[in-house]
Amino acid sequence: MNVTYDYADTTVVVTGASSGIGRAVAQRFGSAGATVINADVRPDPKDTDETRPTHELVAEAGGVGRYVETDVSNVDDIETVVETAREFGGVDVMVNNAGIFRPGNILDLDPADFDRLHAVNAKGVFYGTQVAAKDMIDRGVGGSIINTASISAELAQFDHVQYDSTKGGVKMITRGAALELADHGIRVNAVAPGHVATEISEGWSESAPQEVRAGEVIKHVPLGRAADPEDVAGAYLFLASDDAGYVTGETVWVDGGLQVF
Ligand code: NAD
Repeated sequence: MNVTYDYADTTVVVTGASSGIGRAVAQRFGSAGATVINADVRPDPKDTDETRPTHELVAEAGGVGRYVETDVSNVDDIETVVETAREFGGVDVMVNNAGIFRPGNILDLDPADFDRLHAVNAKGVFYGTQVAAKDMIDRGVGGSIINTASISAELAQFDHVQYDSTKGGVKMITRGAALELADHGIRVNAVAPGHVATEISEGWSESAPQEVRAGEVIKHVPLGRAADPEDVAGAYLFLASDDAGYVTGETVWVDGGLQVF
């Protein structure tokens, strides 16, 4: 049974929506009638036989799509995205989803890599949360902020230590912000995907030791397969909805049961 949502008259910012999970989330909000701004450092994919720009997919699905070139580790870029959202009434739902992965054993990690991962995955979520929340408060409205964490917020895997650190941070930014923004009518939650077939997971599979390669990890997923981005997208629509009106500070695991293994 498919759940249908109505996000007409709702402006949703999704960071990192040129690809993968963000793209599926953007499309799904579009199909519910939302205006969706894709805030990604990478241009929206060119229209080719294989890929379509996310903003066009959003429009085709029934929403209004926009693209704003954004590096989430740069607070000025986030301010620009939120200003752009004002042209559509202001950001109602902020999805801080952009992320990167680089492998590395604790003994070999390059501090510059460590910093960059934290700048995008953790500081990007902090900026997105802070700037969107201030805008919601200035406009005197509540809102919903949804961060993409990961199974890695709880589960250590070889060569994942700096990534795990960023995602543990995302989980706790989510909890702390939920506590401090509740009085303003702003709910803050996270979605923690398990193994999703996207570009980022291709990266870690190739580099990982045998025991953590994609095929090996998937053997331990109780539901028996990797997720597609579309498997994850529905959790974001639920968390943004009135049905989740009493849900805040939560991390929703969408991992096929991997965490309980
Ligand atoms: P993806 O590589 O397909 O998409 C990531 C997107 O983020 C890309 O479009 C990329 O251009 C964008 N991006 C990267 N750096 C950016 C920056 N500085 N500013 C703005 N945009 C930037 O990967 P994905 O799997 O869709 O990843 C989305 C999120 O899901 C990430 O936070 C990732 O850590 C998380 N996640 C993924 C998995 C998985 O198995 N794929 C599992 C758990 C969590």
